[in-house]
Amino acid sequence: MAVTTESWDTRIQRADELSRRGDATKEILTFYAKLLQSQKDVYDFLRSRRGWLPSGSLSDDLPVLRECLPAILRTVESDGPAPLAEEARSVMSAASGMVDEMLLGYWRAPSDTQFFAKAFLQPYARWLAESGGQPVDRIFERQESRCPFCGGMPQVSFLQIREVSSESGNRDLICATCTANWPFRRVACAYCGEEGPTKLGYYHTPEFDHVRIEACDTCKYYIKGVDLTRLGFAIPLVDEVAAAPLDLWAQEHGYTKIELNLIGL
Ligand SMILES: [Zn+2]
Ligand SMILES: [Zn+2]
Repeated sequence: MAVTTESWDTRIQRADELSRRGDATKEILTFYAKLLQSQKDVYDFLRSRRGWLPSGSLSDDLPVLRECLPAILRTVESDGPAPLAEEARSVMSAASGMVDEMLLGYWRAPSDTQFFAKAFLQPYARWLAESGGQPVDRIFERQESRCPFCGGMPQVSFLQIREVSSESGNRDLICATCTANWPFRRVACAYCGEEGPTKLGYYHTPEFDHVRIEACDTCKYYIKGVDLTRLGFAIPLVDEVAAAPLDLWAQEHGYTKIELNLIGL
């Protein structure tokens, strides 16, 4: 069962707060806060539409969804890093049929290099999950390391104490497509399921005490893990972006990220 516990507002506040620290990630966090705000606007628009619920068939839902496209594009164009702003401009000037094809293509076979489709469809997929719908034109395999609701890849993992009796915390993965989370084995690769302790490596720096790289030597993939037992008010999706310097370490050591985040890191 996948659930979403964080509101858009708590994510926006956390990105604002972290951007005020003024370190090397200030710019990307300032942009991420604005992007989250426009994702929230898409979500609110869909949610407040009277007499309408998403059907789960993106091709049927697109006529409604299309209405909130220009606003999110403008945000990315004016505040995004150069490559994303460029992508926003090319989507703005593309024929609407091509934009539909891009969104439908992403929905059927998600890819983390399709920044715009991912950013735009996250609020749609979330509202689809919360309103009791199911994706109907998206075919995916049931796998432990994929979102049970939509089949999306994990964006980040996190540890939290769920039961009072547990001291070390339970591990969950957060879906890159609908941002819901689901429970996962505590010591296992989030990509290939490897459990061998000698194959799994962890890396963290004092600068980000509550975030670590969780890397696997069997498949050579990694994901970041946010430890809420160390920092309870961290917001995994946002703290993952803020810990961008850790991605450099992982790349230098030959690991590939399971899913790039919305900032393209
Ligand atoms: Zn999902
Ligand atoms: Zn692996």
